[in-house]
Amino acid sequence: MKKDILGLSFEELKNEDFFKDIPSYRVEQVFSWLHNKNVSSFDEMLNLPKSLRENLKETYSFNGVALVKRLESPTDGTVKYLFSLSDGELIETVLLKSNRGLSVCISTEVGCKMGCRFCASTKAGFSRKLTAGEMLSQVYYARVDSGERIGSVMLMGIGEPLDNLNMVFRFLDNISDSRGLGLSHRHISVSTCGLIPEINILAEKRLQITLSLSLHAPFDDMRSEMMPINNTYPLKSLIAACDNYVNTTGRRISIEYTIIKGKNDTKICAERLAELFKGKLYHINLIPLNEIKEKPYESVSKSEAYEFQNKLIKLGLNATVRRRLGADIDAACGQLRRDETEKRM
Ligand code: SAH
Repeated sequence: MKKDILGLSFEELKNEDFFKDIPSYRVEQVFSWLHNKNVSSFDEMLNLPKSLRENLKETYSFNGVALVKRLESPTDGTVKYLFSLSDGELIETVLLKSNRGLSVCISTEVGCKMGCRFCASTKAGFSRKLTAGEMLSQVYYARVDSGERIGSVMLMGIGEPLDNLNMVFRFLDNISDSRGLGLSHRHISVSTCGLIPEINILAEKRLQITLSLSLHAPFDDMRSEMMPINNTYPLKSLIAACDNYVNTTGRRISIEYTIIKGKNDTKICAERLAELFKGKLYHINLIPLNEIKEKPYESVSKSEAYEFQNKLIKLGLNATVRRRLGADIDAACGQLRRDETEKRM
């Protein structure tokens, strides 16, 4: 099988047998075409001799994403891409515009095995993990399509990033390489449903990324019903791992909390959140639920979301309500892929 060239770091590329007898400036040119100029084929690497391009084609694969569908929100400019991969699998990527610049939300797996009840990504099943190249390619596609600088990247699309940690590390190396996009880790968020061993590995790496924890419920019984992973990694040990992460890295954790009407928006939940997080380096990000087809849960109105936010603030927590960008184009994780997969069946 041909090697995925996009996923190789600069050092790895330099040490490849292929480049042994080729002048070293050629490695820099190839890396720059891939990660800075963001071409999507070897044929576009115009300053390389044709013979070299042909040899590259024979040795490496270029497993980028290919556009299937592009939806743009007329209200807030959010763009949602449905991409196919070289084996025909489908993933989604979202480009969001805010006053701090463009942000790309990428998928890390084809589908998801975590089984959260409110999430469309998990409903269409899990096929495989993405390669680092496939993750990079989503950012590069959105960059070329928008023609603008990408200010931040979120690993918050389809899949569980910490279930694909080695590829995520590879992705982080390449995206921050100054010969490529040069995006600092401080502008990258990685979201997890709470895989403790991987949170511990991340803590030891002491990266400058922002870790987001999808909490959604402050009690074990409630959380286990919403998120099966809580049966494996219950709250007490999960929060202990997160506290350790904060203490080791000095970085604030962002708690994702999807508000569900009449369930996790009560006074008791607010008080429990304060017990868990008050006075520590956490920020609570409230997200009104994006209802999916099965409708296991009901969403809240904007004013109800702000009401819950006020409860938390009064209890001494840092809390904001996330804007619902792209609501008019089904920008909630996994809905496009799921619809398209069902159509093809
Ligand atoms: N697996 C990772 C990242 C992907 S999900 C994680 O669990 O964090 C990205 C975020 O969207 C998570 O916080 C997830 O819980 C949330 N989410 C999923 N479905 C949603 C929905 N229907 N409405 C609101 N948020 C949702």
